[in-house]
Amino acid sequence: MLKKKLTMGLIAVCLLGGTSVALRQEEDEVPLSLLATRMAEPAAETIQNDYQKAVSYILDEKYTEAMELLEDSQYQDSAALYEYCTVVNDTEIVKIEDCRKALESCSNIENAAVAAQYDTVMNRLETTEELQKLIDQINVEEIVTLDNSEELHKLYTAVADTDPRYARMLSTKKLDTAMSVLANLEEGNEIGVLITEIAALPEVTLESEESIGTLMSQYNSLSADQKKEVVNYKDLKNADQKLQTLKKEKKEAEDKAAKEAAELAAKEAAEKAAAEQAAREAEEKAAAEALAAQQAAEAEAARTRAAQEAVEAYNNTTVYISNSGHKYHEAGCYHLKSSHPISRGEAIAQGYTPCAHCNPG
Ligand SMILES: [Zn+2]
Repeated sequence: MLKKKLTMGLIAVCLLGGTSVALRQEEDEVPLSLLATRMAEPAAETIQNDYQKAVSYILDEKYTEAMELLEDSQYQDSAALYEYCTVVNDTEIVKIEDCRKALESCSNIENAAVAAQYDTVMNRLETTEELQKLIDQINVEEIVTLDNSEELHKLYTAVADTDPRYARMLSTKKLDTAMSVLANLEEGNEIGVLITEIAALPEVTLESEESIGTLMSQYNSLSADQKKEVVNYKDLKNADQKLQTLKKEKKEAEDKAAKEAAELAAKEAAEKAAAEQAAREAEEKAAAEALAAQQAAEAEAARTRAAQEAVEAYNNTTVYISNSGHKYHEAGCYHLKSSHPISRGEAIAQGYTPCAHCNPG
């Protein structure tokens, strides 16, 4: 730093000295700027040496040392190189996109060697970005099978081989999970078998109850940590929920059918009862009518009988006739000279007619 300050001082002295030179400029026609450059040459040489040294440090990835030399330097793209060192040396950057932004902000490097290194750095960042993309694309629950183990192993190796400076920016959680699933599948252990069987579950029907139940109880018998490794448990849970829905729908259909059957039976029973009631009523009505007819017939018969009895009683009534005459009489009528009892019917049959005096009817 001290050296640098001295250099700066020299430049200042030269520039001040240039003032008197400038006064003579009109005489010998030498441009002031050229004079200043000539007079600053020894100091510029030092600056250039420091710059070259700094570039060497950068190429050796000794950024802190390079930054010390580049700080306050006015040479060429010193400021750009200093900025570049700041970015590539910054271990605080933990996001790939932040790293890209920072690198892009210092792309104006003139020095060819450093520019080449910048390209290499950018390439490494792009490789890292590609790896992150591949990791992000992993669908742990669906993709991890023994079929794509080779691909996953390759990706895992690529991540392991990544420069630590960039590797720290990778978010590898999905890859780690995928590798752990793969390990279970490859070992064919309890968890691996469960994951494979869940993945192989066919379309859920009411027939799936046993298989889903078995897998569920296998899952439930695992420890909390083991459960976390069953990455496709969600699929098993969904299958179980679908099964429960199917069972519920079946029960509802059965209940509905039973209810309808009960309603139909009740309706039929009601109809039967109504028909029976109607038949009973018709029967009762017929019986009542028959009774009424019988009673009417009986009444008619009674009336006929009464009339016959009245006729008989009328005919059977004893009247009296005499030896002469053609009248019949009540007992004791003074027209009776002699008296013979006879029934009225007989008297009428023999041609007798009732006496007008005693009026025997
Ligand atoms: Zn008489």
